[in-house]
Amino acid sequence: MMTSPSPLDPDNLLRLLRDLVRFPTVNPPGGEEPAARFVERELHDFGCETVVLPYEGEDDGRRAAPARSSATGKAAARAQVVGRLRGSGERPGLMLSGHLDVVPPGAVAWSRDPFAAEVVDGRLYGRGACDMKAGVAAMIAAAAEVARLGEPLRGDLMICASADEEVGCRGAAALAREPLFEGLGSVVIGEPSNLELFVAEKGAFWLEVTVTGKTAHAATPQHGANAIAAMAELLTRVPAAALGGTRADPILGNPTLNIGTIAGGVKTNVVPDSCTATLDFRTVPGQDHTEIRRRVEAELAAVLEGRAHTGSRVEARIDRAPVSCPADTPVATAAARAVRAVTGWEVRAGGVPYFTEACIFVPVLGLPMVICGPGDPRLAHQPDEYVELAQVEQAARVYVEIIREMLMG
Ligand SMILES: [Zn+2]
Repeated sequence: MMTSPSPLDPDNLLRLLRDLVRFPTVNPPGGEEPAARFVERELHDFGCETVVLPYEGEDDGRRAAPARSSATGKAAARAQVVGRLRGSGERPGLMLSGHLDVVPPGAVAWSRDPFAAEVVDGRLYGRGACDMKAGVAAMIAAAAEVARLGEPLRGDLMICASADEEVGCRGAAALAREPLFEGLGSVVIGEPSNLELFVAEKGAFWLEVTVTGKTAHAATPQHGANAIAAMAELLTRVPAAALGGTRADPILGNPTLNIGTIAGGVKTNVVPDSCTATLDFRTVPGQDHTEIRRRVEAELAAVLEGRAHTGSRVEARIDRAPVSCPADTPVATAAARAVRAVTGWEVRAGGVPYFTEACIFVPVLGLPMVICGPGDPRLAHQPDEYVELAQVEQAARVYVEIIREMLMG
């Protein structure tokens, strides 16, 4: 006898998603704590053990600047939340994972308020609607539905809602150092995929390169050392030098390089004594980030050789390894069956060129993963971001089916 309404009902999913979007968790500064408390209450309501972890923006021993709310100037509290529905322990656990922070609304004007969670024609608009509060809402609803069904779980079901994903998955990196994940066997990452499946993602390696020179009057440049000229030479050499000889990955294709920013010089008639550029490598399995850095440094040394009064500095800003899981792991095959059962689609697992929290959970926790979530990934980080509510409901049903196959029956 089950008479209580299902958490998968459209009204409940809309409530969850609307409330989540209305927390303006723009990163920086993030300020995810109220949203994490909201998720905790939701999880607690259907019997999850929960833990809310304050997050201070720490990563790899480097502490980020303290988060400040741009509106109030006050420190914005940050937190992450992990919930667990206990199973019998016969099977390894399953984690559904998402992040609570969103990117800023951006410079392009929106036609709707990015934090009002307006619904028009079956679409909910808002920053984070697609990336990825829809995924978080669907995960909460799926876990609540499983709890409502009341059938015993043969392994633990965990729900993870992290902070600080959009700036290099630093929240997940901090979480992975906590003793929270024992007994876990696999992870589903609910990033927007239009309910397609991905088992591989490119790595990200960001280098900041600074060349220093010596300033002089532009009328007598022979007395100076032009940092911009040296940087220009370096940047023409780096693509071939750093990526030459790498092999394409069967799923992810070729590695790429974007030279993203460059800054240097003070005036047209002054020899510039400093120039900084940032490089964004997207890498594939088999590439070693240390080797990429070594090659960049070797080119830099070659460029500066013979240029008097020059120096340089190379710093890694983001270093996330590429991830590739087999397409036939239990969680990937369960996800393929779940998508087929809910949508009728035959989906084959592919790869994505951007990184998700899989770049932490797979190498650090040793878990196979699949990325599958509601929302069109092309709308992520765009003005007028939205998600189709019907797809949020489908995603919740997909997650229930994955949980059934992995942890029940
Ligand atoms: Zn995301």
